[in-house]
Amino acid sequence: MKIAVIGTGYVGLVTGTCLAETGNNVICVDIVKEKVEQMKNGVMPIYEPGLDVLFNRNIAQGRLHFTTNLSEAIKDAQIIFLALPTPPGGDGRADLSFVLGASKDIAKIITDYKVVVTKSTVPVGTADKVKQVFLENSTIEVDVVSNPEFLREGVAVEDFMKPDRVVVGTSSERAKALMGELYAPYVRSGNPIIFMDERSSELTKYAANSFLATKITFMNEIANLCELVGADVDMVRIGVGADARIGKRFLFPGIGYGGSCFPKDVQALALSAEEYDYDFKILKSVMDVNQTQKIKIVEKIDKYYKSNLKGKKFALWGLAFKPETDDIREAPALYIIDELLKAGAEVVAYDPEAVDNVKKLLGDKIEYGDNAYDILEGADALIIATEWQLFRNPDFDLMEKKLKHKVIFDGRNLFDLHKMVDLGYYYNSIGRKIVE
Ligand code: NAD
Repeated sequence: MKIAVIGTGYVGLVTGTCLAETGNNVICVDIVKEKVEQMKNGVMPIYEPGLDVLFNRNIAQGRLHFTTNLSEAIKDAQIIFLALPTPPGGDGRADLSFVLGASKDIAKIITDYKVVVTKSTVPVGTADKVKQVFLENSTIEVDVVSNPEFLREGVAVEDFMKPDRVVVGTSSERAKALMGELYAPYVRSGNPIIFMDERSSELTKYAANSFLATKITFMNEIANLCELVGADVDMVRIGVGADARIGKRFLFPGIGYGGSCFPKDVQALALSAEEYDYDFKILKSVMDVNQTQKIKIVEKIDKYYKSNLKGKKFALWGLAFKPETDDIREAPALYIIDELLKAGAEVVAYDPEAVDNVKKLLGDKIEYGDNAYDILEGADALIIATEWQLFRNPDFDLMEKKLKHKVIFDGRNLFDLHKMVDLGYYYNSIGRKIVE
């Protein structure tokens, strides 16, 4: 099939590349010229494990193309995917200007039937708004389909190539047939393509993200309680997760959820509910708890140093909002840095992939290191904010030589408590006994 993908961020680039991988001819469009030039030259603009192999192969085999020219991209396309940002607007609601703006541009230039697919996460009713834009700006027949994306950064290729499910919201039989054909290669193992109406599809995405954010937040509250009552959250997690109704996944406590999706999607759903006079109480609590959880570790640090953080130097492992990505949007590490700097502390940070993005944001407000160990030199303590695999089994001998004091605040529960006792650290993690 001939496909156009509008927007080449984490979702658009993965979508375009993975659709090309099954033999489709894909043209991706972005408005950022340098990014498009980069991609035309075979350089990936984001870090996403495994994507580079598919990206290079499909470019080399002539199935994956990049352009800044919208007309060129959509001229022959049967399906047009909108993988555009939907950030929170000034009022916290999803800003639909990218999606509706691009729809208008497309409407003005199409000359034959198209299926227009919203892959972006959009509030209930957006498909209707997109349809309206086409009605107002074109006489050509289009079907607008909601096809939310569930990929996780870090394992996005696997998620796209072998999705748990594909959700397609459409009331058009013609679009349904085309979407079914397009996705068939990705669900050969029997995972479902779930067809539904547009509104249900739009809400499914927000419901899924909000449920996951709630699950994490619930465990964060259990962890906070564990600290007060002297229980070990790792034991509680295993005990609870063994119940098939609950499941083992997404039960790890930490320093709050971040990223480009959960914070904005939970907020957008709560605000959408308000529009219908529905008070979505759970989501409000989730947002509240997450806000405090992100800086709870700083409260622990502050307590340990008796509110005297001025001049203290902290080494920080991890800047990305989660491992295996360079994405720092709403990353808990940024909140921690902010609080530490406000308290007069110094921060020197290392992350395997996200340093460049943080440099663009924070410049020389903090220092950066090229590896995990150099930044420990003379640091008063180590703080762990992202659970990159390489931090799980570090060289403790080297750490001891470099750190000024054997003090670790671990927001991701990477180390065994007995081991930390043996190594003689002060070790403060989440929902577990403090080792001192
Ligand atoms: P992103 O910010 O990484 O990428 C968006 C891209 O669109 C950018 O490259 C930008 O330059 C481009 N763009 C903006 N306006 C454009 C225009 N008019 N024409 C062409 N390109 C344009 O965003 P993302 O993370 O890929 O997210 C896109 C959507 O998918 C959002 O709604 C998000 O909520 C949703 N989503 C994201 C993820 C994720 O893990 N990142 C997962 C599922 C769903």
